[in-house]
Amino acid sequence: MERITVGDVEVRRVIEWRGPLRTVAEILPDTPAEVWEANRSWLSPDFWDPGTGAYVAAVQTWVIRSSGRTILIDTGVGNDRDRPQMPEFSQLHTDYLDRLGAVGVRPEDVDVVVNTHLHADHVGWNTRLEAGTWVPTFPNATYLLPRADHDYFGAADASVPRLVLADSVDPVANAGRLRLWEDGLRIDDVLRLEPAPGHTPGSSVVWLQSGGERAVFAGDLLHSPVQILHPGHASCFDVDLDQARVSRLRVLGEAARTGALVLPAHFGGHGGVAVKAGPEPDTFAIDHWADL
Ligand SMILES: [Zn+2]
Repeated sequence: MERITVGDVEVRRVIEWRGPLRTVAEILPDTPAEVWEANRSWLSPDFWDPGTGAYVAAVQTWVIRSSGRTILIDTGVGNDRDRPQMPEFSQLHTDYLDRLGAVGVRPEDVDVVVNTHLHADHVGWNTRLEAGTWVPTFPNATYLLPRADHDYFGAADASVPRLVLADSVDPVANAGRLRLWEDGLRIDDVLRLEPAPGHTPGSSVVWLQSGGERAVFAGDLLHSPVQILHPGHASCFDVDLDQARVSRLRVLGEAARTGALVLPAHFGGHGGVAVKAGPEPDTFAIDHWADL
């Protein structure tokens, strides 16, 4: 099952890519080997391959159906892109659009696209290549992107951010479908965007509340469930480690307090988890896994 409901809202997980990605030592440098070993029974093999040390990741889109509208959260890597910094994600040719179709989503039906932040594995299917030109994949959607990330990566000197902007963001802006937001944004009656900076300056989470139930789409606030046990542990992709830790503690704390299901972007095993307060201050524990 890759489908759950949160109140009256349907949430589906559409996976673009899943597999081993580098090693946990590289992706989560703060987490010592003993912590992986101590939690081996449930981290292996879905989140970690103890044989190779590999970090096991998923890249995916959350599909939300609410009051007849279709909202996508994060759009993966995309096809046909040069990604020199990440060979695993260079020139992908997946059937992602067929997978969206298999859960009843046609590109023209998508009302809103949320990019939690402007990294290459969250904005890719914003666009597709048509006769040599990048065009918006979802022609009728409003695309929501944090202004802080657009400013930060737009000003970056490196060629990689420019490449991502050029193939995955600029074509959306040129089509008049990009909306930059800051300080939070209510998307509709049940969905609310909130800044959770640190991983990138504009990193954000989406809170969902419906029929007395809650969830939070946490983007890259967490790369592995070990960070629930140890929220102080950073990922190697975090731009501002301290700010990311503060955001992680705050969002996990609110999720534990309110019973919100946490749905991060990259968990290789179960895609969602309910958390509770942990044995020590500023730690958390797994209450139960979501059925997806
Ligand atoms: Zn990511």
